[in-house]
Amino acid sequence: MLMVVGLYIKMTNQLLIKKIEESGLTGRGGGAFSVAKKWKLVKKNIDNSNFGYIIVNAAEGEPEVKKDGYLLENETELVIAGINRALLYLGTKNIKAIYFYLNVLYLQKYKAKIEKVLKNKEYKELAKKIIFYKKPQESGYIGGEESAIVNVIGGQKVRPSQRPPFPPEVGLFAKPTLINNVESFYNVALIAKGTYDNKRLFTLAGACSHKGVYNLSATMSIADILHATDNYPDFPFFVIAGGAVCGEVLDQDQLIAGVEGSGLIMIFNHQKTDYDKLLDFWLRFYENQSCGLCTPCREGSYRLRELFKEKKIKTEKFTDLLDNLEQSTFCALGSSLPYTVKSYLENIYFKYKKYE
Ligand code: SF4
Repeated sequence: MLMVVGLYIKMTNQLLIKKIEESGLTGRGGGAFSVAKKWKLVKKNIDNSNFGYIIVNAAEGEPEVKKDGYLLENETELVIAGINRALLYLGTKNIKAIYFYLNVLYLQKYKAKIEKVLKNKEYKELAKKIIFYKKPQESGYIGGEESAIVNVIGGQKVRPSQRPPFPPEVGLFAKPTLINNVESFYNVALIAKGTYDNKRLFTLAGACSHKGVYNLSATMSIADILHATDNYPDFPFFVIAGGAVCGEVLDQDQLIAGVEGSGLIMIFNHQKTDYDKLLDFWLRFYENQSCGLCTPCREGSYRLRELFKEKKIKTEKFTDLLDNLEQSTFCALGSSLPYTVKSYLENIYFKYKKYE
């Protein structure tokens, strides 16, 4: 059913959630959890607990990914419209506050732009609830992780929390909390307008001639995206897909899959890449970004780099440490390390590097 409100024709909350469900929209922050399921869960829990919170995640902490910045720059109104739809769906009186969690750069660049849109009469109630929150600069990658954000805003240490319970059940200040990425809210606005067509934003980076953010079908393969954006290299290359550090590394004959994670494709020129330096970069990143909470990640990332420096990556110990990280870490950072490193070793490093 459609409701006429002022000059606008609006989808009812019930119809909207049905449409979100039918669209199959998943979160665009990396977790890829069903947006409809999350919204319904938060609503159910808020109904049992009087009130809750919304957090807009604009931390965009994965290196090289620029899609949320692109949306805040170019599609501010639709991002705000999507957040407003979440507020209406969960019930304005049930939401105590909406935290707009932005990295330092985005806060500086986009706060005024967002505030300008919020001046629109339609967003009177929404504007009253919005609290801008600066992601602590020293929080690094982990400061953009869902449960770590809840802890940061709640005044706790910048660390992920053990789950369950998940934020839709016990989130900010122990209340049900909806956390969605900027792109997820943008897509909800498109669904509400009836213009969503299963596209997502891809960031193209690295050794390509047309870097940038592209809005393309979510089901396209990596090879098709490179062709469609005129970025298919004419030199031997490989890519990391998903994120620049949390992604899958694939050689140029392995690009039939789509892109998961944060939607990044980064291209590397085989002839210009120092394979050791690249591996060292990834291992160092994980070692530096580990928050230290769990042993396999804290000790494992350190030991892996030590073994690498001792030229012992073909040892059982190196493999065991990777397997251990895969199975027993607390958050996505720890489990991404083996995903990136294993795919790199298997698809690129051992194939091209003369290993002594
Ligand atoms: S996996 Fe690493 S970053 Fe994540 S909680 Fe454990 S120590 Fe912290």
